[in-house]
Order: sequence, then C-alpha cells, then structure tokens
Amino acid sequence: MNRDLQLQLLSCLADSPTCVGLFDAQETLRYANASFLQAFGTELDPATTWEELMRCCHRERRGLLIETDDIDAWLTRARRSYRKTATRSFESDFVDGRWRTVTETLSADGWALVLAADVTPLKVNEATLREARDQAVLSSLTDPLTGLYNRRYMFNRLAELLVSARKMRYPLTAVAIDLDHFKQINDRYGHIMGDQVLVYFGQQLRRHLRPLDVVGRTGGEEFLMVLPNADAGGALHVLGRLRALTDSTLPVEGLSSLKCSFSSGVTLAHPHDTVETLYDRADHALYAAKAAGRSRDVVFDGTQALLEPPGAPHPTDPGPDPDHPADR
Ligand code: GH3
Ligand code: MG
Ligand code: MG
Repeated sequence: MNRDLQLQLLSCLADSPTCVGLFDAQETLRYANASFLQAFGTELDPATTWEELMRCCHRERRGLLIETDDIDAWLTRARRSYRKTATRSFESDFVDGRWRTVTETLSADGWALVLAADVTPLKVNEATLREARDQAVLSSLTDPLTGLYNRRYMFNRLAELLVSARKMRYPLTAVAIDLDHFKQINDRYGHIMGDQVLVYFGQQLRRHLRPLDVVGRTGGEEFLMVLPNADAGGALHVLGRLRALTDSTLPVEGLSSLKCSFSSGVTLAHPHDTVETLYDRADHALYAAKAAGRSRDVVFDGTQALLEPPGAPHPTDPGPDPDHPADR
C-alpha cells in the first residue's frame, strides 16, 4: 500500500464512528481515533496500557461498564480470554448507555487492534422483537378474555401430561366443564355481564388448582381441567370446592343476585388413551351431567356405565331448556 493510500486509510479511520484503538505488544495504547476516545471518555495518554484503561473505566465509571467490587479479580478473569486468540468478538455495555460489539485482532508480533462498533439500535430492535415475539407466543396460547390457556395449548399440554403420567405411572384425571344455561345469562343480563361471569369463573378455576394442574378455556363457556397425580376422587374434591363458590351469588358488579352453576364430566386416563379418547370420554360424561339435570359432576370410568355421584339439582337451576339437545 503506497503512502498516500495509507494516509487516506488513516484519515478515514480517524473519522470513523467505529472506535479504533491500537495496542502494542506491551499493551500500551498507541493509537485511538476520536470515537474511541469519546467512548472511553479519555484523553489519549501515550503511556496508557490496556490494564490502566480498564482500571480507569472502573474507578471513574466511564467507557466500558465494569460492575465489580473487585477489579483485580475482574482483570484476572478478563485476562483468561484477552490476547488468547488471534481474533475474538464480544458485546459490551458502555457507561454512556450504548452497546458495542468489540472485535480484537491480535497480530503475530503482539499488537492488538480493537474495534468497537455501536450496535445499540440493533439491540433495541432485538429487544422490541423479542417482546413482540413473547407477546405473540402468549396470545397464541391464551384466551384473551379470561387469560386462561386456550384450546390449542390445552390439547398440546394434555398430550405431554399423558406421556408423563404413563412414564411415571401416576394417575391423571381430565375434567370437562360447561356453565349451565349460560345463554340465558347473556339473554337476561347482556353479553358484557356474561363476559364478566366467564372471567370470574376462570379466576376461580385457577385459584382452586394445585401448581401442577392445568386449566384452559376450550370454547365459549367450556373449560378443561387436567389434574396430574389425581384420581376421580381428587377431581370431585376440587369440583366440590368450586361448586360451593358458584352456589352463592357471583360477585359481578351491578348484579346482586347473579348465580351460575356448572356441570362437569370427569374421567381418569387409561394406559392407551390419546388426547382425543380421553377428552371424548370427559365430554361424554359432561353430556350425561347435562342430561341428568345439570349442576352436577358425572364420572365416566371408561369400562362401566356412567357413574353419577349423588347430587341434588342446583337450587337455582332454571330447569330443562327445551332448546338444548340434552334436555329434549
Ligand atoms: P347448557 O346448560 O346446556 O350448557 O346451556 P347453555 O345455554 O350454557 O349452552 P348453549 O350452548 O346453548 O349456549 C352457550 C352460550 O354461551 C351461547 C353463547 O352466546 C355464549 N357464549 C359463548 N362464548 C361467549 C363469550 O365469550 N361471552 C359471552 N358473554 N357469551 C358467550
Ligand atoms: Mg353451557
Ligand atoms: Mg357449551
């Protein structure tokens, strides 16, 4: 490279927004462009070594962000990778709030070229994209009204839980739940009140479950509970507590006398169940609970006829619904 070209290159490097620093084999900073000096908040002192620069960053909180109470230990750790390879790249946080990708290139005679490019806008984009992706994933798995898991998530999760239950040999119970005469609630009080009932019911479902249990909204006023390590008795216990709540007036603002019962179909997983066969049985049991008068739980054990635990019709059950197939 002729001298003119060398000068041209140097002049370009001097004005570059990329930080450029050149250290000799004794680790003394021999050249730094304006961006480098600005980023490190330092005047160019020809005697500054890499270690002094790092100590200065730490002591005066400028340049590279070094958060440690023990700078000697930090330097020892940094030296494990510093000047150990011909080239290395890493991202660094700077005190000025910028993120820079630092690339160190070590020449055969021990000189080290340090380039630091500002990647803050990329980082901000990355964070925004990550947030948007997390939000999209969450939306694809949850129901926006109740915040419960949606049908798609529940079926995928149920498949995983079935595999675990089989492998670990513990029982697993599925419960299909449907609010009773929900259409009448909408018709009487309006869709917005109906929504509030769904939200309240969803909250109660969540409150009554153990950490390993999963609950989701599988349809309009339909829910699915999956209880690993619980048999039908365990599920009926949970449902009993839930029913005690819905037996009393629901705390929906503006309505002092709103009640809404639910029916459920309970079934224990069998060794050869798929998501479909298990859900189908739970749904079948739910249908039987509806046909038997609603506000009750029906257990389907899969081998015998439907077993209906004793339960009186709900005191507020409005009675048969001539429009509903289960009542005909
Ligand atoms: P059953 O006891 O037999 O289940 O009777 P039902 O009235 O609950 O059942 P049906 O299937 O006849 O009606 C379900 C109602 O649920 C009708 C629909 O408008 C209502 N629904 C579904 N999704 C929503 C929702 O997101 N918000 C509100 N407010 N209502 C909903
Ligand atoms: Mg219903
Ligand atoms: Mg329904």
